[in-house]
Amino acid sequence: MADRLTSEQRHRCMSNIRSSNTKPEIYVRQSLWQHGFRYRLNSKNLSGKPDIVLKKYNTVIFVHGCFWHGHSCKYAKIPATNTEFWEQKILSNKKRDENVIKQLEQQGWKVIVIWQCQLKKAQRDITISSLIKEIQENGK
Ligand SMILES: [Zn+2]
Repeated sequence: MADRLTSEQRHRCMSNIRSSNTKPEIYVRQSLWQHGFRYRLNSKNLSGKPDIVLKKYNTVIFVHGCFWHGHSCKYAKIPATNTEFWEQKILSNKKRDENVIKQLEQQGWKVIVIWQCQLKKAQRDITISSLIKEIQENGK
């Protein structure tokens, strides 16, 4: 019993560390899969390595953490210590994101960004259903 708990905790810990398999991403993937969408993951050939690639719909999806990608929401507060460092860091992340999106759009992709805060329990369903609509539109 103790062992099982430990390995579960370890697993949770690992998945927090690994950037490319965070929980919100998994949630979006599972939802899309359940709705019959088939996709590729973290395509290394595309700029920014989009989290989800739906080739058939000409669509790539990023699931962005609010803090790291500088969302304008309450989950993206800059820490009170080292404030300047964090502001610079987040700002450069945002610029990188903008460039990535521009590049992908120039290559003809439709880019959808899902923010982590949009996947909180109260908003999940709405987020996923409007995501699905958007993907289907893109595929027309
Ligand atoms: Zn947010």
